[in-house]
Amino acid sequence: MQNPTYTVLKVAEILNADAKLVDEQRVVQYLVIDSRSILIPENSLFFALSSHRNGHDFIEDAYIRGIRNFVITEHKYAHKYPDCNILIVSNALMALQQLAGYHRSQYNLKTIGITGSNGKTIVKEWLYQLLAADENIVRSPKSYNSQIGVPLSVWQIQSENTLGIFEAGISGVNEMETLADIIQPQIGVLTNIGEAHAEGFHSKKEKLKEKLKLFKDAELFVYSPDYVTDFNFRDLPGKKRFSWSSTRGADLRIIAVEPIAQNCYLRAIYLDREIECMLPFKDRASIENGMICWATLLALGYSPEQADERLERLSPVSMRLELKTGINQCSVIDDSYSADISSLAIALDFLNQQNQHPKKTVILSELFETGRDDLHLYTEIAALLAQKKVDRLIGIGKHISNFAHLFNIEKAFFEDTSAFIRNFPALHFNQETILVKGARRFEFAKISKLLTQKIHDTVLEINLNAMVNNLQFYRSKIKPGVKIMAMVKAFSYGSGSFEVANLLQFHKVDYLAVAYADEGIALRKAGISLPIMVMSPEQSAFDAIIKYRLEPEIYSLEILHSFNSALSDYDFDYPIHIKIDSGMHRLGFDDAEIDQLLPILTNAKQLKVQSIFSHLVASGEAEHDGFTQAQINKFTIISNQLIDVLGYQPLLHIANTSGISRWPGAQLDMVRLGIGLYGFDSVLTDNRGLQTTMALKTTVTQVKALTSGETVGYSRRGVLPNGGTIATVKIGYADGYNRSFGNGVGKMIVNGHLVPTIGSICMDMTMLDVTGIDVKPGDEAIVFNHERTIAQLAEQIGTIPYEILTNVSQRVKRIYFYE
Ligand SMILES: *Cc1c(COP(=O)(O)O)cnc(C)c1O
Repeated sequence: MQNPTYTVLKVAEILNADAKLVDEQRVVQYLVIDSRSILIPENSLFFALSSHRNGHDFIEDAYIRGIRNFVITEHKYAHKYPDCNILIVSNALMALQQLAGYHRSQYNLKTIGITGSNGKTIVKEWLYQLLAADENIVRSPKSYNSQIGVPLSVWQIQSENTLGIFEAGISGVNEMETLADIIQPQIGVLTNIGEAHAEGFHSKKEKLKEKLKLFKDAELFVYSPDYVTDFNFRDLPGKKRFSWSSTRGADLRIIAVEPIAQNCYLRAIYLDREIECMLPFKDRASIENGMICWATLLALGYSPEQADERLERLSPVSMRLELKTGINQCSVIDDSYSADISSLAIALDFLNQQNQHPKKTVILSELFETGRDDLHLYTEIAALLAQKKVDRLIGIGKHISNFAHLFNIEKAFFEDTSAFIRNFPALHFNQETILVKGARRFEFAKISKLLTQKIHDTVLEINLNAMVNNLQFYRSKIKPGVKIMAMVKAFSYGSGSFEVANLLQFHKVDYLAVAYADEGIALRKAGISLPIMVMSPEQSAFDAIIKYRLEPEIYSLEILHSFNSALSDYDFDYPIHIKIDSGMHRLGFDDAEIDQLLPILTNAKQLKVQSIFSHLVASGEAEHDGFTQAQINKFTIISNQLIDVLGYQPLLHIANTSGISRWPGAQLDMVRLGIGLYGFDSVLTDNRGLQTTMALKTTVTQVKALTSGETVGYSRRGVLPNGGTIATVKIGYADGYNRSFGNGVGKMIVNGHLVPTIGSICMDMTMLDVTGIDVKPGDEAIVFNHERTIAQLAEQIGTIPYEILTNVSQRVKRIYFYE
């Protein structure tokens, strides 16, 4: 059997839906919530969920892509698609959960439920690695742990499975019971409970109490007493309990943690005797996750010897897809974490989002799906590749090669990775986007190394999921129908060009804005089709602007005249944007010029005023609220004058990020989202609700011991009075690490310690004082990330986050990741 199989009639019964069925025996195997990721449309059921966007708006798109079964809540769609099965319910999310819960209850499956603040996904993946030898396991894909992710995870259960491992995460009260009813775990594992975001809860205790509801009916509960100090022992869940701790009495009482080389030895008292295990990691988070897995194995009845043997073979879990610059102008998506069909579908979606090269290639190892025969598996993969418009497949491994005939695209097959590497030159990778996806044992890291440019060890990592989170955060703040223009000027505030624009286009922002024409041209050449406004359209670039259909900001009569005359006789209704100066005094028409502007616009048939806009100078600052209101009023008056003569209604917009947060009344037709997308909003305390999108990392090149009296760097500014150790890292002011960070002002994180700079910052290098810390060449130094924030860096040198971001120079390679 593959995927669950229910007839749509059966589904209607389970959901108690008001059903309009045209083909009641049609089989439902896949649940779809996003019209862009559809595997096999004929056997999919689309749920029109409503969160930030109304899912009903995507029914048409899903229909065009071949979906014929829908769960909806809005009756007006019931008769729009006469050839479809329509199930009308009162709440589509609850219907999804109900269906998954029903499916789960059909199996008497041993199930582990995992929750906590941190480490859920790692613990889930490691338990999978540890138990796969004995069980046929179904588990949550990636970190599918939400109100939507959990039902989709549980839906994967098949009769062959002997164990389910599912994670659950919540963001508010009264969410966990629902997830508990869907997962129905007999074994509960509680991971690290952090201090982070008690948002959505009154207190830490309330948050934990809610989390523990996952285990309300559990037979066995694995936990650390350190995290449940607020609870009475008898209030803890679980008929049986198994505890672990390194600070207090527990079933597994850890007494020593000793890092040795890249590993860590743990010793503990268990059943009155001393036992040990080795973990192939040494960072704190991995050690704690390793302890949780150790406790779980023992709680499940494995002997300490078995546990040790398995823990020592754990391998790192990286859930991220990385997008890197490749050789011969290729883009490379590196995903060698897992090789199953659900993660392949996610990776193919990401590949499909890329528009920068017309050609898309997939390098794929053979996959293993338990309980699936190869013919079914590769038939499905072939359908998936065709649907995601992949142009070329390079298959590696004997099994996939045997099914070469199923793939009707350009293709090549190799028995193993070395055969591929021997034939590498003949494959002519050039100007294409390449997805590298293989099971671990195929060692695809070797392939991505061949395909990617060597990077000079200082990288800016951009978390695309965080960016999407931030986009949705602002979407939830704007009124329905208000459009979003995403500001991608200055390489998207330093984060990249087409990589970010692709993401924004995929997530359906309405407009992009760049500063200069060449930025817009680069986006067009990379396949971005969204409308793009150019804020400083230079006259010399008008021809290119028109050729690439970019939309100029018109801020003066002079630019209006010259742009108008650059248009040919054949152009008409060319989109332009009129900028009003309502108080910024940078660019734009002021009151005095409006009278001259009006008659020109009425007569210029070649032009179409797409929008009228202005910019707020202090939307985030309460002391200037009077001024902001005056700007809004002035803008309203002037834009009304313009609309009167135009006789049509252009889009009006004035709010930037902090305008969205503080001036809901000024959302007008569109908002211009800039810095908020990248994770900063001066209006929000600690950027609450936003996620960190960027991390700047560099590498230690050399470590030196200095005796007292020696000095460091130019002009001998660095002094270690008592001697000590310094580490040189590969970042300098030419990379954007400002000279003001020198002489101890700036700090970086090295091996978990915050260390100061010493001496002046050089052009390409910086020296750090690492006295007393274990550091060696090759170690990583973090300039900024979610812990060491850009806001802190900005404050230290008296600037704003915008400048820190945009200063990171183009020679620093960008790596994009997506989970
Ligand atoms: C940069 C810019 C924005 C975005 O401002 P944020 O504060 O980054 O949101 C909006 N409008 C104009 C005209 C801009 O130049």
